[in-house]
Amino acid sequence: MRKPIMAGNWKMYKTAVGTTAFFEKFRSLVAASDHCEIVICPPFPNLPSAVEAAKGTRIHIGAQNLYWGKEGAVTGEVSGPMLVCVGCTHVLIAHSERRFYFGETDDVVLKKTIAALEVSLTPIVCVGERLEERESGATGRVLVEQFQNGLGGLTPEQFSKIVIAYEPVWAIGTGKTATPQIAADAHRLIRGEARARFGADAAAALRILYGGSVKPDNVKSLMAQPEIDGVLVGGASLDPISFASIVNF
Ligand code: PEP
Repeated sequence: MRKPIMAGNWKMYKTAVGTTAFFEKFRSLVAASDHCEIVICPPFPNLPSAVEAAKGTRIHIGAQNLYWGKEGAVTGEVSGPMLVCVGCTHVLIAHSERRFYFGETDDVVLKKTIAALEVSLTPIVCVGERLEERESGATGRVLVEQFQNGLGGLTPEQFSKIVIAYEPVWAIGTGKTATPQIAADAHRLIRGEARARFGADAAAALRILYGGSVKPDNVKSLMAQPEIDGVLVGGASLDPISFASIVNF
C-alpha cells in the first residue's frame, strides 16, 4: 500500500509570524490524520519557525529548493546539509516555476535529487507539460523525456526513495484542475516509465502526487483514482482550514 502524501507548497508567501499563526490553527485540525503523510514547504527564512511549530506533530517540513553542492562560493544558494540542520525532511525539486524562471534542466534535476538523497532528504520531484505541449499532443513525449533525462539517471536504490509530483503547468495557479482521468493517465504513463527503467516492484512502490489547482472541493475525486498517491497544493495550502480539509479529504 502506498501511503498518500498531502503536501503544501507555500511558494513566496508568508512571514515567520504568518507561519506560526498558520500552525496554531492547522495542528489541531490534522492531529488525527494518520491516513497520510503531511508535508509543508515554506520559504527558506520561515523553515525554523515551521519546524518549531510542527514539533511533536506528524507534520513534516520541506524546503522548496536546494543547491547540489554541500558548501562553497555559490551566493544565494542553500545546500542539503543546511536544510537538514534546520530540521527539514523533504525538498521540492524542479517545480515548474524553477524550470521556467530559473532555467532548471533535467540535468540539474538529477544533480539536485542526488544531493537531497545524500543527506536523506526525501525529494519530491516535479514533472509536467506546458499548455502548448498538451495541446499539440506532446504530453507523453515531455513526461517521458523529463523522466528519462532526469530521474532515469538514478540508481534503483536512489529511485526507491523519491516521490514524483505530476504537475501540468497549465493547471498550476490557474484554477484549471486536470480531470481525475487526465491526471490518472499521466500518472500511469510515469509509472510505466518507472517500470521500464527500474522494474515492477519499484514502480508499484513509487508515490506519484498530483498538483495543479487542488482545492477542498476537488480533492476527493482526484484521490479516488488509485493512481493518485497524494497531492501537491499551492494556493489552497496557505489557509489552515482549506489545507486541513484537503488533508482530511
Ligand atoms: C504548486 O505550486 O505546486 C501548485 C500546484 O499550485 P496551485 O495549487 O496553486 O495550482
